[in-house]
Amino acid sequence: MSSVFSKIRQAYHLLKEVDIDAIGKLAEKVDLPGAMKQLGKLDDAQLKGLMKMIGPHHHKELPPVDGDFYDLSLTLTEEERALQLKVRAFMETEVHPIVNEYWLKAEFPFELIPKLAALNICGVTYKGYGCPGMSHQMEGILAMEMSRIDSSIATFFGVQSGLAMGSIYLKGSEGQKQEWLPRMQQMQLIGAFGLTEPEVGSGAAGGLTTTARREGDKWVLNGQKKWIGNATFADVIVIWARDVADDNVKGFLVRKGTAGLATEKIRDKMALRIVQNALITLTDCWVEEADRLQEANSFKDTADVLRMTRAGVAWEAVGCARGAYESALKYTRERKQFGKPIASFQLIQNHLVEMLCNLTAMQTMVFRLSQLQDEGKLTDEHASLAKVFCSLRTRDVVSHAREVMGGNGILLEYDVARFVADAEAIYSYEGTKEINTLIVGRAITGFSAFV
Ligand SMILES: Cc1cc2nc3c(=O)[nH]c(=O)nc-3n(C[C@H](O)[C@H](O)[C@H](O)COP(=O)(O)OP(=O)(O)OC[C@H]3O[C@@H](n4cnc5c(N)ncnc54)[C@H](O)[C@@H]3O)c2cc1C
Repeated sequence: MSSVFSKIRQAYHLLKEVDIDAIGKLAEKVDLPGAMKQLGKLDDAQLKGLMKMIGPHHHKELPPVDGDFYDLSLTLTEEERALQLKVRAFMETEVHPIVNEYWLKAEFPFELIPKLAALNICGVTYKGYGCPGMSHQMEGILAMEMSRIDSSIATFFGVQSGLAMGSIYLKGSEGQKQEWLPRMQQMQLIGAFGLTEPEVGSGAAGGLTTTARREGDKWVLNGQKKWIGNATFADVIVIWARDVADDNVKGFLVRKGTAGLATEKIRDKMALRIVQNALITLTDCWVEEADRLQEANSFKDTADVLRMTRAGVAWEAVGCARGAYESALKYTRERKQFGKPIASFQLIQNHLVEMLCNLTAMQTMVFRLSQLQDEGKLTDEHASLAKVFCSLRTRDVVSHAREVMGGNGILLEYDVARFVADAEAIYSYEGTKEINTLIVGRAITGFSAFV
């Protein structure tokens, strides 16, 4: 008898709580008695789970989206960290809003050059000539920050600050440095670096076919160069050519407008579309002896430049991966399917964590790489190992990023599609996987497997 009363009491309290109109509306949409019957079959744990799912959603403070999982930025000085954040802000506010439009048009946003120059980061590590004289670690971090938003701008900057200015800084005479570096540092003059040829890429060390013949105080250059970034508008192009007299590779500063120099834009690239790569044709192109890089006497000197810049390319790969990871993480927390953010699904978290594993391994690797560089201990194989690992892992990270974004992963608007494409160029330039692998293989085995 008492249990009947307690049931009536429970029903009375329930009726007081519920909104009869709402129940009426719900009953029009679902089979309420059937649903009640099913609910009655659930055990305590299942009921708890269900209540959690349908209960009121309190606004949850989510962790920041940050690809620096091991807090490597804490190792920076205050000044370095401030510069990192300044460049990040520049990339986010000035570059990000316009980047997809330019990427699609395959054009270069020239309006960015004075703004980039104002950051005063060109020639980051060089001492004198108006350059900041900062650490290689700082240089790497800046490459990462640029590539985190756009790998094309990072590449443009890498060609200017690293390959072109670096050739002059490492291999130019004092007079050549004085003439070019201060204005290149200010980005009043833009440089390019011409090593690769249509028929000679990986085999550049022994196979360059572009020739240089000395005639009195002048040299005459003949041949072709392919893929040369910035060359369509550069004020100076460093051309590496074989001296027909001694068969050694030498470097020449070929000025814009020199007779016999022709540049043609390479069209329809599917990666780094903002970078203006050119096919260069040199037809009896006369260059003064004074414009020959005075300290470049063989390919060993070219390799000195490449060693330095290859480390930077490893950092660019990290930036590309970081941009893709952070975009994907943000997206998965906002995108809802089955009524929940997709970031809450186990399989999606697996993708995100795999990306983070790779990204964190890459970042710690390049931090150490730059320390070696700052200590003057960087070898070819150090730089090659980082370039191989980072550009390979980046391909993996961007493909996971693309995957967790579903269809939107192939839309430019969501950025990740651009990272996927750009990772392909980073993978190939400054030494392919095979060539960098052979460099490391030679170092660890003592046997050269180059053919
Ligand atoms: C976007 C972009 C920008 C670039 N910018 C510049 C620039 O500014 N200046 C410049 O000078 N160059 C530039 N390059 C050229 C770049 O450095 C070359 O593409 C690269 O060195 C590879 O040469 P390749 O494309 O001729 O390929 P190839 O040398 O023809 O190689 C084709 C394939 O064969 C493999 N291979 C070659 N030799 C061996 C071997 N011995 N053993 C095993 N496998 C081998 C390669 O690894 C690769 O997989 C750029 C390239 C790209 C894509």
